[in-house]
Amino acid sequence: AAKDAGRNRFSYFTPALQVAAINRMRMTNDLRSALKGGQFRVYFQPIVHLRSGKIHKAEALIRWEHPQRGLVSPLEFIPLAESSGLILDIGEWVFKESARWASLWRREHHPEFQVSVNQSPLEFQREGKGYEGWLAHLRELGLSGQAVVVEITEGLLLDASSGVTDKLLQLRDAGIQVALDDFGTGYSSLSYLKKFDIDYLKIDRSFTRNLAPESSDMALSEAIIVMAHKLGLRVIAEGVETDRQRELLLAAGCDYGQGYLFARPVPAEEFNAMLVAQSRALAAAAAQSS
Ligand code: C2E
Ligand code: MG
Ligand code: MG
Ligand code: MG
Repeated sequence: AAKDAGRNRFSYFTPALQVAAINRMRMTNDLRSALKGGQFRVYFQPIVHLRSGKIHKAEALIRWEHPQRGLVSPLEFIPLAESSGLILDIGEWVFKESARWASLWRREHHPEFQVSVNQSPLEFQREGKGYEGWLAHLRELGLSGQAVVVEITEGLLLDASSGVTDKLLQLRDAGIQVALDDFGTGYSSLSYLKKFDIDYLKIDRSFTRNLAPESSDMALSEAIIVMAHKLGLRVIAEGVETDRQRELLLAAGCDYGQGYLFARPVPAEEFNAMLVAQSRALAAAAAQSS
């Protein structure tokens, strides 16, 4: 019986661990060849100025067009990209794609259009590598640092190492703005907002979801917006799915909204078509009112 149990344990646990390790290795190799083979796509989701209803910015969100599995969500492969270190190369590629499109949209849509790029802690804390490369690339495209916004999460600020402070200073020197992503879900110490130079707060989707007059999420969102404004930050609400949520956020003074109500993340060409359609609609409205 002991021998049976032993064999069971073996056949139950060891192979499962091995399978997991082999899968991870296979996935890491897949990720590497995906980058080389051009299987990644950057999708863009509009960030809408709530008062005017205009698209002012876009968030770049990576997708993996897997030959067998179809579109794979970043939630599935970003953690592996992080633990394998591949996120550094992937992140650089996302940045370059984002800058390329930002250049077009600043030229043809609005000179202040911004594309917002997510940075994993590993990318942000990457030693010895600052944002000089990014800046040089932007300069080649004739863009200022203002063309991109870097999205980081609260956890990073908790690790108040000098490395993090240095990176934030480098960004500021480069004129690149910083957004604090998923605000309210992490450690949310308000002292970070005073200590670090942050430009935007992104209120997490979990608050937007339950917005209703008199609700506690409404009270929290209102308080976040008032506080952010007093500190000179602008606020973007994530996960806006209904017109009611949009109205409540607008009434609370929220600056920007992002969510399925406006649009899902779409391929760059589609995003571009959205901007063109918006310009036409605005021009038609202006012609009618004059
Ligand atoms: P995030 O930065 O918080 O991005 C917002 C996520 O919310 C996106 O998920 C977006 O598709 C989704 N979303 C937007 N509006 C709505 C809505 O109205 N309702 C709902 N239910 N969801 C909405 P996505 O694209 O799956 O990305 C997930 C996360 O993966 C991102 O969260 C970000 O943390 C990470 N990620 C995506 N692209 C990159 C990248 O290029 N680099 C890094 N390091 N991380 C990335
Ligand atoms: Mg983000
Ligand atoms: Mg977010
Ligand atoms: Mg998120």
